[in-house]
Amino acid sequence: MGYISGSNNNLMETSDIHRMQKYLIRWYSKYHRQLPWRETNNPYHIWVSEVMLQQTQVKTVLPFYRNFLGRFPELKTLAEADMQEVLKIWEGLGYYARAHNLHKGAKMVIQEYGGLIPDNMKEFRKIPGVGEYIASAVLSIAFGQAHAAVDGNVKRVLARLFQIKTPVNKSGAYRTFKDVAVKILDEREPGIFNQALMELGATVCKPKNPECAICPLESFCMVNRSGNVDGYPKRVKKKSVPEYSIVVGVVHKNKRVLITRRKPEGLLGGLWEFPGGKIRSGEETEAACIREIQEEVNLVVEIDRYLTRVKHAYTHFKIVMDIFICKFISGRVRLNGPVDYRWVKLHELDQYPFPKANRKFMPLLTNTL
Ligand code: SF4
Repeated sequence: MGYISGSNNNLMETSDIHRMQKYLIRWYSKYHRQLPWRETNNPYHIWVSEVMLQQTQVKTVLPFYRNFLGRFPELKTLAEADMQEVLKIWEGLGYYARAHNLHKGAKMVIQEYGGLIPDNMKEFRKIPGVGEYIASAVLSIAFGQAHAAVDGNVKRVLARLFQIKTPVNKSGAYRTFKDVAVKILDEREPGIFNQALMELGATVCKPKNPECAICPLESFCMVNRSGNVDGYPKRVKKKSVPEYSIVVGVVHKNKRVLITRRKPEGLLGGLWEFPGGKIRSGEETEAACIREIQEEVNLVVEIDRYLTRVKHAYTHFKIVMDIFICKFISGRVRLNGPVDYRWVKLHELDQYPFPKANRKFMPLLTNTL
């Protein structure tokens, strides 16, 4: 007799699993949102959508997905594109390593797989940025292969459905939820089933106030039966994120401003920005700005005026950024950290991909020089 077991020995019979699959797929076929990546079997398009949807909501992704595929409709066009253009289209979507990996991955598919996305787990996972989730999602949705795809929405649904006590954000929790997802996967329609579970998490079994009354799985749901919906999923408390004080200098010379390019790896890799950095303990902000510019680009500047303060939150830290307009005094640019630089006119800034934190103050630069 088949069963699935949560960490507290809750069981489900095979016949119940089949009924549950049927209810879920019936619900999905009737109520799912029309989304462009659901109207295609093109593995490249599905791959792009899954990469974009990682840690990002559907409504944010939609315009980026359309722009991206408008410019790079085929894997080949992406592989042949300049990375800066890819970053420009990705600008604002965040987690830029995803864009770098997708670009590298497209090149690898062209060079090593004759332009065809590998349709098996082992080969597909050799591609940069293709982890277990992306591979499972693409292979199940585009190729109909029986792989369970477990994202944040799915973990939450499973935690509630089977009253699983493992905190969803605990390291190693993925394996627990993946094991459960594998046991309930509908192997006849794995792509639809995976999408249905994700859709249920996104639209019904939401993080707050799940709508159990309209849920197709209500009669199977253990937290619903035990009246414990609010207690699941369990989470471990995260440490509060540190906040850094940053200075940024918009250095101008002959009606042009200096921008620098970050190295391709790491946070915001390959994006352009104005030079700056962390304020040292006890240091005045103006002095920090002058020092950072000297250290980073080897220029001597003086502060013209204070522009504004911008706050921005990244996943693991926050920044408070003070921005100064700086006058070039002397020196030749020599880079220490950035990999490239340009002196550009203000209206040319739009041609370069910048982090969101820089974009927040850039409108204030108009008529500054
Ligand atoms: S019944 Fe409620 S808690 Fe259970 S899966 Fe459905 S929406 Fe989520």
